[in-house]
Amino acid sequence: MDAKRLIADPLLAWYDQHARTLPWRALPGTAPDPYRVWLSEVMLQQTTVATVRPRFAAWVARWPDVASLAAAEEADVMAAWAGLGYYARARNLVKAARAVVADHDGRFPDTEATLRRLPGLGDYTAAAVAAIAFGRRAVVIDANVERVVARLFRAAGKPAVRAAAETITPDTRAGDFAQAMMDLGSAICTPRRPKCLLCPLADRCAAKAAGEQEAFPVKTAKKPRPTRYGTIFWLEWIGADGGRDVLLVRRPEKGLLGGMRALPTGPWLADRPGLVDAPAAAADWTVLNDEVSHGFTHFTLELALAVACVDAHSATDVEPNGDARWWPVDRLAEAGLPTVFGKAAEAIGRKRCG
Ligand code: SF4
Repeated sequence: MDAKRLIADPLLAWYDQHARTLPWRALPGTAPDPYRVWLSEVMLQQTTVATVRPRFAAWVARWPDVASLAAAEEADVMAAWAGLGYYARARNLVKAARAVVADHDGRFPDTEATLRRLPGLGDYTAAAVAAIAFGRRAVVIDANVERVVARLFRAAGKPAVRAAAETITPDTRAGDFAQAMMDLGSAICTPRRPKCLLCPLADRCAAKAAGEQEAFPVKTAKKPRPTRYGTIFWLEWIGADGGRDVLLVRRPEKGLLGGMRALPTGPWLADRPGLVDAPAAAADWTVLNDEVSHGFTHFTLELALAVACVDAHSATDVEPNGDARWWPVDRLAEAGLPTVFGKAAEAIGRKRCG
């Protein structure tokens, strides 16, 4: 038998029985929708299926196809993405949707190489969409697949895993194969205590034969994440009628959380910066005892919280415009703030003004 089929055949037979039902997956016998496949693959990066399910449903109810997403306001898309992290992905979703509409007549290109040219589609996403949406043979390696392949072959390191995955990816049913590997990694070949007794590949698995399942994938020593420090400024205005507004800004397009609505911050530095770049610098700022900590990919951010209260918009040097505006505190949940600012708002809680 073709060496590829030794893995693919039992795996696909298992998948036919046990495939997960997911809202972005095509029902058996129906053609996958490339828009839903692409969207789900982008949403699922660094996020769990349980988190993505309701977000995906809300998203496709609002933007059901690539044309509607291409026509969306970027600010609305960014706000809808809030909480999913890695905001460059949301910006690239809009850019890619517009490129599909403008350059491809509203239809996704159907090969890995052409998909790769769309904004934000890296190697993984292009391979996943090519395989799952279009049935193209593509080697799709996410964290689940990496774990399964590393164990099957006792392959150490990403190049060895990729080379091994290349040898077992079949020419037909490539999309099902990719999803079967993902499902196997999610349900059976779990990071701890894999359920080898239930595994359709158990008699082909080198790690199982050696009793070394949990030694794979081999972990590389991670560099310690540096810490950066900054200050979040909560500037609250209390109106004569008791209504409260808080100052929000739009972060610069370039850089982390670019283009997102946010509470103002000073610079993020290796040392605590103090009240640098405070809005309404002359206001009576109080630094709270609480801090907010947030982990980004490359660093951890520790943020002091500074609060000031004013009784007139004009008491500040803030010029409301497209980038800075007063926002009703009781409607803050609608602002689409990134998680770190949501944490800050929660921590400030009742220690606000009045
Ligand atoms: S036999 Fe066990 S370790 Fe090997 S692929 Fe299956 S579940 Fe994973």
